[in-house]
Amino acid sequence: ISSHRAATARLEESVKARTFELEVANEQLSHVSRVDGLTGVFNRRSFDESVDATFTYARDRGVAMAVMMIDLDFFKKLNDEYGHAAGDICLIEAARLASDAVPKEQGIVARYGGEEFVALLNSTEEAAASAIAERIRSNIEQARIRCGSELLQVTASIGVYCATPTRVDSVAKFMELADAALYRAKENGRNQVVIADKNFGPESVQTQAVNADQSQSESVISPQELAPSDEQVASETVT
Ligand code: GH3
Ligand code: MG
Ligand code: MG
Repeated sequence: ISSHRAATARLEESVKARTFELEVANEQLSHVSRVDGLTGVFNRRSFDESVDATFTYARDRGVAMAVMMIDLDFFKKLNDEYGHAAGDICLIEAARLASDAVPKEQGIVARYGGEEFVALLNSTEEAAASAIAERIRSNIEQARIRCGSELLQVTASIGVYCATPTRVDSVAKFMELADAALYRAKENGRNQVVIADKNFGPESVQTQAVNADQSQSESVISPQELAPSDEQVASETVT
């Protein structure tokens, strides 16, 4: 009987150990499934889940929320000139800077795809959302990103839509208006924040035109230097 008890105890120990290992593995799997592999911010799937939950909460409680699309400027050119690895380093840094500007309890930053990020802010009014967007823009612009022997500078264009959702609103509307504002930020010259309102159209946009001080002590490659010629820009611009 005693040897049977000992065998049972050993078996129980071993089951406990395996259960713990499985729990750790599940935890890791769940982390990996929510986070973008390159930048460490949330991934698109995570964002899709969060935005639905945030929207429902905001609509039911009658509080404001914001979606902001953040797209790095002239990023293809940066890749072409400095290589994909340098581009990756800039993406990691931009993601970190954006993420640092959003308090954990207020929302998330996710990689939406390529060189585009999205921030989701819960219980946030337009003035606060706009201040966070501006902080992200300015943090990214001010960063000097070391890639080997080069110090690179990137900028971001940001489109924001903030509102208290009504019964007839949808997540899609938040996405579309934030995207339209981003498009406007690109059209207006990039490196700026554009806030959309619900009647978003040519006259209904507030632009926080930003042309920050470009004085730099160390030699830095700026987005202006990376910018394609006017001809290229014109051909890219869709009206
Ligand atoms: P715009 O200012 O209009 O946004 O111009 P852009 O060059 O940033 O936009 P475009 O959409 O033409 O190019 C996006 C580039 O982002 C192209 C692609 O090579 C690069 N990119 C997307 N994902 C990654 C990535 O994971 N790593 C690196 N290094 N580059 C990426
Ligand atoms: Mg871009
Ligand atoms: Mg893009």
